[in-house]
Amino acid sequence: MDLGENSYKIYIEQDCLGNIGRYIAGCHPACRRVAIITDDNVSGIYGKMLDESIREQGLDAIIISVKPGEGSKSLETLKMVYGRLSELKLTRTDMILTFGGGVVGDLGGFAAATYLRGIPYIQVPTSLLAQVDSSIGGKVAVDLPWGKNLVGSFYHPAAVFVDTVLLKTLEVRYLHDGLAEVIKYGFIKDEGILDELADCRNDEEILDKIDRVIFRCCSIKKKLVEQDEKDFGCRMLLNFGHTYGHAVEKYFGYEKYTHGEAVAIGMAHITRNSERLGITEKGTSSYLEELLGKFSLPFKPPEMDRSVLEETMLLDKKSSGDCISLILLRKAGEAFIEKIDKNELSKFI
Ligand code: NAD
Repeated sequence: MDLGENSYKIYIEQDCLGNIGRYIAGCHPACRRVAIITDDNVSGIYGKMLDESIREQGLDAIIISVKPGEGSKSLETLKMVYGRLSELKLTRTDMILTFGGGVVGDLGGFAAATYLRGIPYIQVPTSLLAQVDSSIGGKVAVDLPWGKNLVGSFYHPAAVFVDTVLLKTLEVRYLHDGLAEVIKYGFIKDEGILDELADCRNDEEILDKIDRVIFRCCSIKKKLVEQDEKDFGCRMLLNFGHTYGHAVEKYFGYEKYTHGEAVAIGMAHITRNSERLGITEKGTSSYLEELLGKFSLPFKPPEMDRSVLEETMLLDKKSSGDCISLILLRKAGEAFIEKIDKNELSKFI
């Protein structure tokens, strides 16, 4: 990721978990302690392995584990994390390492951005969603009762380690959840990704080529972030399906749908409407639904009170003044940003 003094490397490599200790010892020689922020599922399976890789280099490793799930992306959990970091007397030459899915990456990244006004951190994403999306680009945040990601920052990691072998223990639901973001990349920028998915007959075949798929997705995100780090322009394309998706997630208290499932509903719904309005090439929405359906992802909006949903969408960060920016498709592989008057939103949803 080429961002001047905030540049960093993204390693996509099978079994790279074991190299992290060596990387820290080589690239951050002043580091003495590493606080690993993780969740109970991930630490239960891989905590020991990572801990050993770090300790082998003579560094102290401390695990701070939170309950799995979106509920941990909260101010309460953040306070607990700050408490642990204070007890450990972590300094600004030490490191934080986020080890888990997008929840742990966003929470731990925000703790790193704010504790002592910023501690270097490394992202080690373990879910597919985090490997293709949330671990790169520097967006870190926690949720508030009023909405998702409402308190956050842009704070880039010192490095990202994507070990694709870790995906073998991911529940099928979360593998598919990550595929929703992969499908997003395909529809906004790279139809070739969609061909890769269409050719797979089952999840095993996807895992066989997942390194390449992750590389393609990360390459798209890298380019967009390099051009528009703070999300005022082309980076917004990555939010295809998200404004509606976030509102759906919130509507059901973050319990009924995973992030990827809600985004799947958002992408399909907005595209169905933009196709009806003659903006999107005919047949695009059925292609999108076919791919989402193939991976058991939902694509029809559930029963919801439209006014509540609209209100949440207007609170979204892509909303400014009287306008809101929607991400629409011209066709598969080509997306654009449409700034519309807030009064027009109902046409699209
Ligand atoms: P998650 O972090 O809750 O992980 C999903 C589940 O998989 C959890 O139960 C976790 O314990 C488990 N898990 C993770 N890796 C595992 C592994 N290797 N083996 C076994 N179990 C494993 O959810 P997620 O889908 O990874 O991330 C969703 C979050 O990411 C949301 O909060 C969303 O807002 C955020 N997000 C952030 C960005 C960004 O740019 N910062 C982008 C997209 C999404």
